Amino acid sequence: MSMLRFKMVEEAIQRKALEVPAPKERPSEFFGKYVFDDEKMRKYLPNQTYQALRHTMLDGTPLQRSVADSIAAGMKQWAMDMGATHYTHWFQPLTGGTAEKHDAFVEKDGRGGVLEEFSGKLLIQQEPDASSFPSGGIRNTFEARGYSAWDPTSPAFIVDTTLCIPTIFIAYTGEALDYKVPLLRSLEAVDRAATEVCRYFDPKVSRVFSYLGWEQEYFLVDESLWAARPDLMLTGRTLMGHESAKNQQLEDHYFGAIPTRVMAFMKDLEYECWKLGIPVKTRHNEVAPNQFELAPIFEETNLANDHNLLLMSILKKVSRRHSFRVLLHEKPFKGINGSGKHNNWSLGTDTGVNLLSPGKTPKDNLQFVTFLVNVMMAVYKRNGLLKASISSATNAHRLGANEAPPAIISVFLGSQISAVLEKIEHSGGNDPLIFDDKCGLKMEGLTHIPELLIDNTDRNRTSPFAFTGNRFEFRAVGSSENCAGAMTVLNTAVADQLRDFKADLEARLAEGAELETAVFGLLGEYIRTCKAIHFDGNGYTDQWKEEARRRGLDCVNSVPEIFDQYLEASNVKMFARMGVLNEKELHARAEVKWETYTKKIQIEARVLGDLALNHVLPVASRYESLLLDKLFKIKSLFSGEVNERLSAQDMALVEKLSEHMSEIRTLTSRLVEARKQANRIAEERSKAIAYHDTVAALFEPIRYHIDKLEMIVDNEMWPLPKYRELLFIR
Ligand code: ADP
Ligand code: MG
Repeated sequence: MSMLRFKMVEEAIQRKALEVPAPKERPSEFFGKYVFDDEKMRKYLPNQTYQALRHTMLDGTPLQRSVADSIAAGMKQWAMDMGATHYTHWFQPLTGGTAEKHDAFVEKDGRGGVLEEFSGKLLIQQEPDASSFPSGGIRNTFEARGYSAWDPTSPAFIVDTTLCIPTIFIAYTGEALDYKVPLLRSLEAVDRAATEVCRYFDPKVSRVFSYLGWEQEYFLVDESLWAARPDLMLTGRTLMGHESAKNQQLEDHYFGAIPTRVMAFMKDLEYECWKLGIPVKTRHNEVAPNQFELAPIFEETNLANDHNLLLMSILKKVSRRHSFRVLLHEKPFKGINGSGKHNNWSLGTDTGVNLLSPGKTPKDNLQFVTFLVNVMMAVYKRNGLLKASISSATNAHRLGANEAPPAIISVFLGSQISAVLEKIEHSGGNDPLIFDDKCGLKMEGLTHIPELLIDNTDRNRTSPFAFTGNRFEFRAVGSSENCAGAMTVLNTAVADQLRDFKADLEARLAEGAELETAVFGLLGEYIRTCKAIHFDGNGYTDQWKEEARRRGLDCVNSVPEIFDQYLEASNVKMFARMGVLNEKELHARAEVKWETYTKKIQIEARVLGDLALNHVLPVASRYESLLLDKLFKIKSLFSGEVNERLSAQDMALVEKLSEHMSEIRTLTSRLVEARKQANRIAEERSKAIAYHDTVAALFEPIRYHIDKLEMIVDNEMWPLPKYRELLFIR
């Protein structure tokens, strides 16, 4: 009998919800307690320093060194008042996570003791030994210099007893080695381009911000069960496991009552988030069993992204406190929903206008439609690149794999917006643009229910890029990803498109056209041009796959080949033109993406091989031997027709068992061989393609036979916790 599995199941069942004492204060009283925010800056910084820092934060004015010293002194004082002893530059290497190296504030005082020190120099810049971070060949290990430099637009915060300073990470030679540098550059690019376009409508606009509201989906698994599944531990997903008789088919988990243990965890999690200034707001059960979601109020994109990264590390920490493990993998379990990180995205001006929200007057709406159509154009022109920005070995299971939506980017608009665009396309905007605001809906026969305001945009859960009334929701982003990858591409693509729009518009104006007529004419043309990207139907169907191919949308399915988009000539030009990534940086990024892909598949292949040969086959073999034993006994006791009758079923079982076992053996040897072959390839792209085509391709076939065995072998012998045990937290 498989002792470990039963012991772990027992442990998981016995576990009680952790008592989480309710905070004594209201969230508004402790929100941002551990953040060096405006309030603390005022308190801890001399006024002049504070003003200088505000300038830097608002318009990017470079900081003087003396000011930096003064900020560092104030920050240190605050941190020490809060009990911090260490500081760290907190950055976002290309691994996708965050990195930190802690240093204590202590310095020698020259008299045999120590004192606490923190200079402006240490705040502004550090040189972590960067040799072990992926660089895609930008740095050789022998000259492993990398610098982290403070990003004053994202406030410092304290985790535990460490002051964390959000930083960028660059090579000695100036190239970006992280996710934050290109993100910040893309935000600048979209600010510049969008502000110029806004000025046609309102000369008072002097800045445009990009906003991000992420929705983070995740799974929770009991820690004991997780520990008994080497695949979950090492790859973040189950590489095998027969589907549970009951999973999500009753649709009883989505928005259902949150289990007590999970509720305790969520409260704890929210408390931690609020203290760190992350404005989390929404929590609920997701579609799949054990799947949940957390969403904050949207923020400026750079800050929102830092908050998401911070949240992912808080999730991991708090889940362990509650004897859970959080799974951020995009597809931890086959046959049920995977996890995404919907990126709600919009642009807004410093005058307080959301550029993606229909307005009250025709003039507002002209501006709205201008931005809407330009976003569509950007997504149309860069649909392959946007797909590359969200592609990874893990997200591939959500997009493009057998049971998921296809790896195709399209835009959903809903009926009302679609109708307006059609009008513009055909009439050139001769009718004034008025959008029905929310319309009232009377509930017939239910007079005590107040009139409902019905949002006039529809929803489409199958669209990877959906307009949802006042923003776009980029739903294809993976749950484990750094949002910056997707946000950098989106903001850059939109910036580049707005620049083109401005040039096109200027040309028309130079010919003497009136502004409004010129805008309408141009938008009409754009709408025609980018029609292919607009799809309001069901994106999960096979018909759509065919249709998308006909429309010329990017339908490449293989992740390593999708990454080619980063090096596609027109994309390289765009990144350069927008000052976001130069060719060397793009090559490095593509290289890192291929390398990471290979490594992930390599690890999965090793784990699968180990589980197949050392966990599954021996157990199946033991069960087979039991059956043979029984058959042998039957044969020695009975003969002829009786023997045959009594043996028939077990004989059939033995045959089935040995059939699956032999398939597993053959396929696993093939897997090992494919890996060896692929490992001989030096060039990263070809290697990743080999891993995709020859190694990963064997995962499903091997799993198929293992899952069959799971249904045949005695339940008491099966070593790995089953889906029905992993998936239902009480
Ligand atoms: P859904 O109904 O799509 O599940 P949620 O309430 O879970 O919506 O999350 C929506 C997210 O979109 C939140 O983070 C919210 O703050 C964000 N959001 C709302 N308006 C905007 C906007 N104009 N720009 C960016 N994000 C926004
Ligand atoms: Mg949503």
